[in-house]
Amino acid sequence: MDNQKNIFPIFDQIVGRKKKEQLLNQTAKVIWMTGLSGSGKSTIAIALEKELAQKGFLTQILDGDNIRTGINNNLGFSDADRTENIRRIAEVSRLFVNCGVITINCFVSPTNAIRNAAKEIIGAENFVEVFIDTPLEICEQRDVKGLYKKARAGEIKDFTGINAPFEVPENAAIIVKTANKTVEESVNTILKEILPLITKK
Ligand code: ADP
Repeated sequence: MDNQKNIFPIFDQIVGRKKKEQLLNQTAKVIWMTGLSGSGKSTIAIALEKELAQKGFLTQILDGDNIRTGINNNLGFSDADRTENIRRIAEVSRLFVNCGVITINCFVSPTNAIRNAAKEIIGAENFVEVFIDTPLEICEQRDVKGLYKKARAGEIKDFTGINAPFEVPENAAIIVKTANKTVEESVNTILKEILPLITKK
């Protein structure tokens, strides 16, 4: 790209990821949670972060709404903006991973194309896809933010699950069915799979 011809990245001169992971005594991963609004991503992320902190792991939660009021506050929900939203989130995740920090990402990320775009930027070896698999009916009953009611009333267009599609992930590493589970049980399902990946060998 033309605007990059006078830019000289210094990646090779800064202290590398391996050294930072040694300092933190952990292996960095991006735990990418995908699922409908209200499926439980944020709730699980908060509880998972607490558990991991107790076990000595340094994490950073990246959450859709926080990102959209901060670094991505100039983006809407058009296709182009959704793509840019995910690109920036993936690049931010990559910075954390290169700093040795585990990120816990909470994004609806409704299509395989979006999830694959994130995976490509982050690197497949760093990317752990977690499907928070909660049926639409239950998300709608929970209606944590009152968004389903608004979407049903036609006040939100392109709302995932109501008038925009959610594609079931094809390659999720972990599937969490929250419907008849407590938050603690959901967190344990993820912990069991994730601990071997983030524990320094
Ligand atoms: P999301 O971040 O996916 O939009 P939230 O975490 O904001 O979803 O909301 C999920 C809601 O479902 C919370 O009110 C939470 O207490 C409830 N809930 C019930 N059971 C579970 C479970 N097993 N795991 C996660 N959340 C659950």
